[in-house]
Amino acid sequence: MSQPHIVAVPYPAQGHVLPLMELSLWLVKEGCKITFVNSEFNHKRVMKASSENDDVRNKINLVSIPDGLEPEEDRTDLKKLTEAIGEVMPGKLDEVIKMINESDENGVSCVIADENVGWALGVAEKLNIRRVAFWPAAAATLTSFFSIPKLIDDGIIDSDGAILKKQGIKLSPNMPIMNSSDFSWAFFPDPALRRVVFDLVNDNAERVKSANWIICNSAKELEPEAFAMFPQMSPIGPLLATNRLGSSTGHFWPEDSNCLNWLDQQPHNSVIYVAFGSFTILDLTQFQELALGLESSKRRFLWVVRENLILNGDSVYPKGFKDRVGNRGHIVKWAPQQKVLAHPSIACFVSHCGWNSTVESVSNGVPFLCWPYFADQLFNQSYICDIWKVGLGFNKNENGVIGKEEIKNKLDKLLGDTTFKEKALDLQAKVNTSVKEGGSSNKMFGKFVDWIKTQRSSI
Ligand code: UDP
Repeated sequence: MSQPHIVAVPYPAQGHVLPLMELSLWLVKEGCKITFVNSEFNHKRVMKASSENDDVRNKINLVSIPDGLEPEEDRTDLKKLTEAIGEVMPGKLDEVIKMINESDENGVSCVIADENVGWALGVAEKLNIRRVAFWPAAAATLTSFFSIPKLIDDGIIDSDGAILKKQGIKLSPNMPIMNSSDFSWAFFPDPALRRVVFDLVNDNAERVKSANWIICNSAKELEPEAFAMFPQMSPIGPLLATNRLGSSTGHFWPEDSNCLNWLDQQPHNSVIYVAFGSFTILDLTQFQELALGLESSKRRFLWVVRENLILNGDSVYPKGFKDRVGNRGHIVKWAPQQKVLAHPSIACFVSHCGWNSTVESVSNGVPFLCWPYFADQLFNQSYICDIWKVGLGFNKNENGVIGKEEIKNKLDKLLGDTTFKEKALDLQAKVNTSVKEGGSSNKMFGKFVDWIKTQRSSI
């Protein structure tokens, strides 16, 4: 049988590129050939941050296309980025696919595109190629997108996504309550930007319904009610590098592996891991309060202070902080997070609750202190604290800041009560069973691979 050739298209953000690269490596293991289409901007970052013997360079064909912005332009301006992408990337992807069709005798066998790049599914449809939508976040979040027509009918939002009623909503009886003001698009105070995000979310949710598959990096065991509500979503995860016995690939920043040596020297179950993913921004007051909270906890900590973590400025630590904590605290710019979370010295994770971080922690039985920043992270926190009961949230003070006493108190509470760890280990066992031979995600992944291999051309 000839080798299926898959074109994979991520949304251009770290939390989207990493899991799609991971899925790509799982498919390479199954005998598929992958052409991975990053934006030029992100491709350069991945190449710079990876080493020559990295899996990502040797097992996947990495190509890049422009995203429509100049290298120095601000890619955090979502409105500008979305418009530029829409104008440039579909045409360029079309060219990549046609080139493969000319050079590979069997042509492209399917396109796997992040749900957030519905335009890539549109290109595949136009070229009569089979389409797979990859959803890298919680199925429950996609469920909220699929529920938009009902939310409009029920008068909760209007057709522009504006929140008409601020209230708690249960999308299905066993799902946690979701606050209407926490919908992903509602985070953006500027109505024009909110509208752009809402239209994108809504259009993509409609478009993926005609894809041949919607695969989710989640497990039935984690969110059974979301999968029951929209059975067209297929759980195949969590697909993690640590389950593949490899290193995770596709990082935008170089991983600082020295922290693993530092972890080796710490007692088991003693270190607080603090990391907020690739996007979260803290203001300086909040940053310093966090530093003081970690200091006053008197516990060991490993803290990721990303280069652009602080709003409009540098990470200025409280005076004398580094001297006072000494070797009890270790700070890095970017950690090999999956390996960190799998390390026996880690006791808990102070996390922004991005979905990748969530499933990585769950897969390693590590309890959470939740510090959500925006979008789906608020809903993920509800799963962590209210449904799975493997973590606690923080309360902000009257100035909207999570204070040092609150940080210390919540650390004491979480680590002083063994039930959080016990429940985290129970959940870990369930989730890890699902990706092992015969588990629910593993079986679904097997069906998906069979489909890729057997049906070659029809859509
Ligand atoms: N990550 C990492 N090193 C770090 C911080 C994060 O490798 O120091 C990885 C983490 O393992 C996860 C991804 O970056 O796979 C972040 O994705 P997530 O969905 O948690 O958050 P986002 O960055 O999308 O907000």
